[in-house]
Amino acid sequence: MSTRELRQIVNGNQVSDGAGVQLKRIIGSPQLNMLDPFLLFDAFGSDEPQEYLAGFPPHPHRGFETVTYMLAGKMRHEDSAGNSGVIESGGVQWMTAGRGIIHSEMPEQEEGLLAGFQLWVNLPANEKLREPRYQERTAAEIPVETRDNGTNIKVVAGQTDTGTQGVIDNPFVKPLYLHVELPAGIEFEQAVPETDNSFIYVMNGQLSLGDKQRPLNSGQLGVLERGDTVRLRAEQASEFLLVSGQPLNEPVARGGPFVMNTREQVEQAFADYREGRLA
Ligand code: FE
Repeated sequence: MSTRELRQIVNGNQVSDGAGVQLKRIIGSPQLNMLDPFLLFDAFGSDEPQEYLAGFPPHPHRGFETVTYMLAGKMRHEDSAGNSGVIESGGVQWMTAGRGIIHSEMPEQEEGLLAGFQLWVNLPANEKLREPRYQERTAAEIPVETRDNGTNIKVVAGQTDTGTQGVIDNPFVKPLYLHVELPAGIEFEQAVPETDNSFIYVMNGQLSLGDKQRPLNSGQLGVLERGDTVRLRAEQASEFLLVSGQPLNEPVARGGPFVMNTREQVEQAFADYREGRLA
């Protein structure tokens, strides 16, 4: 057994995106450009409407997946194919943009707390132009594993060591996406494939990671070394995300909302968008 040690701590940068939404960009930042297959990881959380009301008016995506996990508040989603819905507190939307989607993501509230995460997951070269697909699940549809020691695990994707199966299906990078709550002093272990890239984001509390017990604090993202086991301990009552996936090991060409393998493919995406062929 090989325990994954903490390789890098990333604090992220405060940025403004969409029509002026304030958020913290952690992956996709100068500190951590990407963690294959994860292209971007944003944390948003504000009870100041002026920091989120402007939302994300219509914009395109091609070549990857966007995953929105809401902790608090409501976000309305609409796309060019006529799909729409509201992602509510505790719910997840796993959107496979594939060949192209033009969508908007707008707060469905004018006051109160809006908080959650957006993760971008890359698609392999041969799936980048696939048909778009949505997987939307409410909080009630996400399996929760409760252990005798007080551990609580919401299983968005993948499978826990005791067999609780996540609600999202993704054959491309076989992701694990767990939302874990631990009481103070409790240890947590989870098997992950040896060659996955894995990270932990601490929402609150403090963890010590690996056999070296390196601390990771609230608001920090920890990139883990390779290994087949994630092992950690909650130094205080803590809440965190554990996210893991198979790296694609393919060239990445980014152009704003498009993520392809070559510059030419990104230019093609911009041309398709301009000429109305994207979605
Ligand atoms: Fe988007």
